[in-house]
Parts: sequence; structure tokens; C-alpha cells
Amino acid sequence: MTKPPLTLYLAAPRGFCAGVDRAIKIVEMALQKWGPPVYVRHEIVHNKYVVDDLRAKGAVFVEELDECPDDRPVIFSAHGVPKAVPAEAARREMLFVDATCPLVSKVHIEAARHHENGLQMIMIGHAGHPETVGTMGQLPEGEVLLVETVEDVASVRVRDPERLAFVTQTTLSVDDTADIVRALQARFPAIVGPHKEDICYATTNRQEAVKAMAPLADAMLVVGAPNSSNSKRLVEVGARAGCGYAQLVQRADDIDWRALDGISSIGVTAGASAPEVLINEVIDAFRAKYSVTVEMVETAVENVEFKVPRVLRVPA
Ligand code: SF4
Repeated sequence: MTKPPLTLYLAAPRGFCAGVDRAIKIVEMALQKWGPPVYVRHEIVHNKYVVDDLRAKGAVFVEELDECPDDRPVIFSAHGVPKAVPAEAARREMLFVDATCPLVSKVHIEAARHHENGLQMIMIGHAGHPETVGTMGQLPEGEVLLVETVEDVASVRVRDPERLAFVTQTTLSVDDTADIVRALQARFPAIVGPHKEDICYATTNRQEAVKAMAPLADAMLVVGAPNSSNSKRLVEVGARAGCGYAQLVQRADDIDWRALDGISSIGVTAGASAPEVLINEVIDAFRAKYSVTVEMVETAVENVEFKVPRVLRVPA
């Protein structure tokens, strides 16, 4: 039987970012250096495939430090941790390595600097996301107010409207965040913040590629995990950019073929924590059913790389 033709638009950039790549390498180095088990506080990056692979090599994933023994190394995930976490690890004289993405650490430093200058902080982010928890946890309790939506801006109660600054989660929707920043600036004209926001290059680039790809395709799949903020934003961006069907899939098994019945084109991208092997698995699943022609939709070329320490050092 001849297969129906299908144009598969492949977004570029897609998938792994420099922060995710670095965090995974840090866990692998720790396993080599200290041998298993190495503990990792929270999923090192939000992807089940990556976590399962590291678990098979001897990593043990926990949610809190009190689940780790004193005498085994522990790694903090790419999302960052509240200040109290390394402080507690130091108090317990544990071996710990911080795999926080440097772009998240940059936001932590910004928040601390504004606090030292006497400004109250507003964080634009998602409640409960580990990155938001980590960034808010850089300052004493109550010093960072969270806003998630434009509506929240109207009700947020600040100490002094003249002494305010904002930071953002790195993996938000660029467009939604711009709206929230505008609302903050309208209500608090003296608020200070980064030049645009703290959304990272990888999040921005993946959303731009989706905006270019979504109007071309009958349907769009984002390879990523349901707890991955940047992956979920890609689905929203795709739907808003005009794609009638945009879905998150963790891997090929999740594809709802009935929903795709009758399509002649599909867009494929992946969140920053999804490895290329899963993207290829999805493409192969389409090749099994269709005669696929792949067309790249490239909106940026990335050459960002974060140094992985040659030797894992433990903070003094
Ligand atoms: S998505 Fe951005 S902030 Fe998050 S790990 Fe990747 S580069 Fe760092």
C-alpha cells in the first residue's frame, strides 16, 4: 500500500538548551567521580527519558534534602534552589554540586542586588514551579511578591510603589510576559527591571521558531514533559500562532493518530529538556505511516555553550 504524502516541518532551534546539557553532564561526571548512588534534588531537568537514563546509571532522584543521607553527594537541579538548601547541605557537611543553569543564577544575582538596594521584588512566574520557588527563596520570606497574570498586577499589594523591581522566570511565554511587564510599568512607573525580561535565549528562540512554523502546518506536536514550563508554552504559542491542533507528547506512543486523520502537514518541535532521540522517535513514527518530506523552519542558529567544570568542586 502506498503511504500518503506528509510534509513534516521541523523547527530549529528545538530541544536541548545549554543549561540542560550542562546539568546532565554534571550528574554524569558526579557518577563517574564518586560512583553511585549520587542523589539529585528534584528532576535534574524536566524529562522522564533523561531522568530514567540517569537513574539507570545510579542517580537517585529525591524532592527534598532530608531524603538524602549525609555521606553521599547531592546535586541541585538546573532550575535552581532556595538559598536555604545549600545552607542546610553545608550545615550537614554534605558533598553538593549546584547544577543551576547560569541564566537562572543570573536572575538570582539580580534579585539579591535589588534587595540590597532596598527594593521590594516582584517575580513574574508560575506558582510552585521549582525555578520560581528557587528564585523567591533567594530573599527572606515575604520580600518577593509573585504575579502570574496581568490580573494579578491590579491586586498586588506593595510596600512602597517607588521602591520596586521585577524579575521573571526564564521559561515563560515571551508575549504574555511582555503584557504583564507593561501592566506593572503602568501601575508602578518607578519599577526597575531587566532591559526586557529574564526569559532566556533558548525559550525565546524556540517560541520564535514555533511562531514561524505553526501557520504552515495542519497540526503541531511539541515533544516535552507535562511538567516542563517551556514545553507547555510552545504548545500555547503554536495554537495562538494559528495552528488548529497543537499537542504535547512525551514520545511517539503519545501521538493521537485519530486526531491527525486527514492532515497533509505536521510541525514538530521540542522543549529545552527533550533529547533529540525522542524527536527522532516521533519523526520515525510519522515515516512509518506517511511518505514524509522534512522541511526545516529555522529562525535562529544557536551556539551557546555553558562550561562544565572540568573537576567537580564542592563549595568550601
Ligand atoms: S531553558 Fe534557559 S534558563 Fe532553563 S536551563 Fe535552558 S538555557 Fe537555562
